[in-house]
Amino acid sequence: MIINADLHIHSRFSGATSEKMNIETISKEAPRKGVDVVATGDCLHSGWLKEIRQCKVVDHGTFELNNTRFILSTEVEDQKRVHHLLYFSNLSSVIDFKERIKSRSKNLETDGRPNVAMGGEELAEIAKDLDILIGPAHAFTPWTAMYAYHTSLKDCYGDLDNYISFIELGLSADTNFADKIQELHRLTFLTNSDCHSPHPVRLAREFNRFEVKDITYEEIKKAILRINGNKPILNVGLPPQEGKYHESACISCFTHYSLEEAQRRRWKCACGKRIKKGVKDRINEMSDYKETIHPDHRPQYIHLIPLAEIITKAVGQRTPFTATVKARWEQLVKAFGSEINVLIDVDIKDISKVTSPAITEAIQAFREKRVIIKPGGGGQYGQIELPNPGNNLLRVSMKPKDKQTILTDY
Ligand SMILES: [Zn+2]
Ligand SMILES: [Zn+2]
Repeated sequence: MIINADLHIHSRFSGATSEKMNIETISKEAPRKGVDVVATGDCLHSGWLKEIRQCKVVDHGTFELNNTRFILSTEVEDQKRVHHLLYFSNLSSVIDFKERIKSRSKNLETDGRPNVAMGGEELAEIAKDLDILIGPAHAFTPWTAMYAYHTSLKDCYGDLDNYISFIELGLSADTNFADKIQELHRLTFLTNSDCHSPHPVRLAREFNRFEVKDITYEEIKKAILRINGNKPILNVGLPPQEGKYHESACISCFTHYSLEEAQRRRWKCACGKRIKKGVKDRINEMSDYKETIHPDHRPQYIHLIPLAEIITKAVGQRTPFTATVKARWEQLVKAFGSEINVLIDVDIKDISKVTSPAITEAIQAFREKRVIIKPGGGGQYGQIELPNPGNNLLRVSMKPKDKQTILTDY
């Protein structure tokens, strides 16, 4: 069977997360995005574990609520600030792992994503002991990722490098970028949302499609390890240009720089603040190949722009967090079952019967890859623009003096 899984989220017990990141809301929102399985995140936190325990137990490592399945996972930050993702086979391995790192962490009970005063090798050693999967989270980002502080898997995980079976690509990279690095060819690539809010522009903005025999932790583990016929069959994610750290840019004024220019300026922006190295530049710096070479097992990567973002542009709103965008999103998802159906599968003629010409045209433009993306960098997301917005939209000038305009649907 084929399933969609978002294997990296954060609960309301992590820093800077929405209060709505409770198990009930996540379990109801996931199917509307088209996702069958969500990794819980934050499972070392007692408060979050209590919520997870409220779900129906499918087996020792799989839980269920409102038809959404959950598997146990967490992210931890090591002493070098590298983020690691961990997947647990059952609750007792969660407890055992916690016991092993307890004396080396000051915020285990206060932060869903704890800091641990250990290195990658030490963490991997404990993980291996307890049959926990471990790998780098958002591996190429400039603040808290493996390749920000290390030059290779070996440099991060030492002699345990062979125990690593996956890396998470992060929003600013995709398979075409990551497969430029030879040491990653043997690994499974995970594409996850790392969301802090259940809003449809965040939850499952990236996910994995796996071939499995059942919707359980053990089956997903086999898919990550690519054994017994289980495997990832698709990575789905934002166009990497939409990610916050795609290009090298200033963290304060967001001016973008080429790698050469940034190096010449010693990573100092004209405004005086720091320039952070973009994922594109970091990968090119480390690449072993000029042209990407994919290993045979690598699945296709599909670039998805969240439907709410497409609607936002089509109806001329400034952000996707408005009542208008929500209403239009709800209308489409209700009619066709899930966001992924609307974006990819449903006939555009059927979509046009449910929504406005402007939204239909915008979805069509997305499918034909005509949406324009202004790359992100320095912590600022990339921005999308629709081609020829004048075609289906009426420009209404509100305050001609300060050139503020809104775009209205016909
Ligand atoms: Zn992280
Ligand atoms: Zn600047």
